[in-house]
Amino acid sequence: MLSNLDPTPSCHKTLLRSDALYQYMLETSVYPREPEVLKELRECTSRHSWNKMATSPDEGQFLMMLLKLMNAKNTLEVGVYTGYSLLCTALSLPSDGKVIALDIDKEAYEIGAPFIVKAGVAHKVDFRDGPAMDGIDMLLKDESNHGFFDFIFVDADKNNYLNYHKRLIKLVKVGGLIAYDNTLWNGALVASPNDELPKYIRYYMDYILDLNETLAQDSRIQISQVPISDGITLCRRLI
Ligand code: SAM
Ligand code: CA
Repeated sequence: MLSNLDPTPSCHKTLLRSDALYQYMLETSVYPREPEVLKELRECTSRHSWNKMATSPDEGQFLMMLLKLMNAKNTLEVGVYTGYSLLCTALSLPSDGKVIALDIDKEAYEIGAPFIVKAGVAHKVDFRDGPAMDGIDMLLKDESNHGFFDFIFVDADKNNYLNYHKRLIKLVKVGGLIAYDNTLWNGALVASPNDELPKYIRYYMDYILDLNETLAQDSRIQISQVPISDGITLCRRLI
């Protein structure tokens, strides 16, 4: 089913209180610097029925800045969809860098795969089809992966974020970063019990609340919850 042909991310992509201000930011600072191939992937994704899941271009720009600042070389992505954040990552890694990408939806990945090829970064991408927990457990079995990853982006099943965290803290290197996406959950975290919320927002809300509280208490990491897009919590491994 095709819907929403407008490739412009709508207000669900930002917690800014003014759509006009968000539009201003996109038009002034984001779109003019967005690589052409990312724009093409964004436009292609906008014709897909689940397009609301895609990483917004302002968040993509932020991830690219982070990856460059860190000189990230080995990264992991949990939750790929059509690959906007994946392509942001692959474009930011050095030519001998690698991103392992985990998703159960190979069909969605294949929508974006031609753009990864077109960008000349396919050699950096290792897509693994299947439940992310299995993929992560497989990585954990090999001791050489412990403390191996510079950067891990988590953007899949929100009910498992804490289960992922228990494992990913072993895979990220000391000084490396795990980034959990959507941690401000559409602003719903402070909704009152009587507020009407979409079913899926209500369903995952308690998991996000639990995640935020647990990360704030975790002395193994330094955290910063950045209110870009739907909120992204950066966790730098300390020990
Ligand atoms: N980062 C993506 C982007 O930039 O467009 C968006 C990811 S989308 C929000 C969430 C993805 O997680 C979906 O593609 C879905 O198939 C995947 N997913 C959900 N549950 C999963 C699981 N248990 N294992 C692996 N992938 C899962
Ligand atoms: Ca997301």
